[in-house]
Amino acid sequence: MSLISFYPGPSRINSNISKFVLEAFDQGILAMNHRSDEFMNLVGSTKKVIHEKLNLPKNYQIIFTSSATECWEIFAQSCLSGISQHVYNGAFGRKWATITDKLDFPTVHTSFGLEEIPELKEINPKSEWICLTHCETSNGTFLNNTILRQIRKQFPDQLIAIDATATMGGLNIDFQLGDFWFASVQKCFGLPSGLAVLIVSDKAITKAQAINERNHYNSLLNMLDNTAKNQTHYTPNILNIFLLFKSLNKIKSVEKINEKLDERFKYYNQLIKELPTINWLVKNPAVRSPTVLALTHPSPESLKNKAKQNGFILGNGYGPWKDNTFRVANFPSIKWKEVMKLTSFLQSTNV
Ligand SMILES: *Cc1c(COP(=O)(O)O)cnc(C)c1O
Repeated sequence: MSLISFYPGPSRINSNISKFVLEAFDQGILAMNHRSDEFMNLVGSTKKVIHEKLNLPKNYQIIFTSSATECWEIFAQSCLSGISQHVYNGAFGRKWATITDKLDFPTVHTSFGLEEIPELKEINPKSEWICLTHCETSNGTFLNNTILRQIRKQFPDQLIAIDATATMGGLNIDFQLGDFWFASVQKCFGLPSGLAVLIVSDKAITKAQAINERNHYNSLLNMLDNTAKNQTHYTPNILNIFLLFKSLNKIKSVEKINEKLDERFKYYNQLIKELPTINWLVKNPAVRSPTVLALTHPSPESLKNKAKQNGFILGNGYGPWKDNTFRVANFPSIKWKEVMKLTSFLQSTNV
């Protein structure tokens, strides 16, 4: 029996994937040439279904890359001509800022507390870009629409880049609130790793055109030229593009998925109140992410081991919270009946 994964990435794979992989094999997708008409049709249809099902604004472009980490680098090399201000409270936000630093761009690191929302007065109106992490997967915190809207409103001349790796495909994102969004697919999309979706606004494209950086295989302008032809800038993970197409085609709407996650998040809130040894890492409910739960336990190591014996994988704590927390993904591909099984385990265990 394979274990049920509650790991927040790579995470539980969507149940239909085995069927789709066979279909890909039968249809010759695995040996498809990436300059062929068939491939361009696949890319065109996949971009169309992303636009429709994720409610993207018409004037936003979609690019396929290999990972969120690659998008961090693409952002720095192709979109910056001024200060990049990174506002973060955890490991992923910090890594992104560090990558930008290493490429020698003027970055400003603005950290905020685990229990807090970012202070608008800390954002410098002279920054060219404001970089945010939608859900900080390392500690389960989240920037909700209210704060994203405030930032957009208060800084209308700035560009905003948002790492949505642990939310895209799960939450109904208001994409107008940012200009450079990205996510790898092994989190909320429930797909195997090795593909990421990058979404850019016309404002971000105008900025990249003004900078005109074309020195890298993955320079943004080069990728935009390719995506305009429904091609990619390298031989991509075609199987994963196909899986993304098939799985998004099957969902009703991201609103429905978001509702399911919200409902389950409420359920977890209730459950955690009843569990004597488990608590939230973050005490302020307003900053908790509905997609990644970071929970404290006196001995996460023994809890995770016992969970494994019972058929579950729980996520490790991250960085400074490694020894006192574990993480639970609330991603769309996890089923209610699996949440119920986890519930019985957590209720019965006396670890
Ligand atoms: C997982 C994750 C990443 C890294 O994704 P890769 O696919 O490994 O590049 C980046 N940012 C956030 C917020 C993540 O959760």
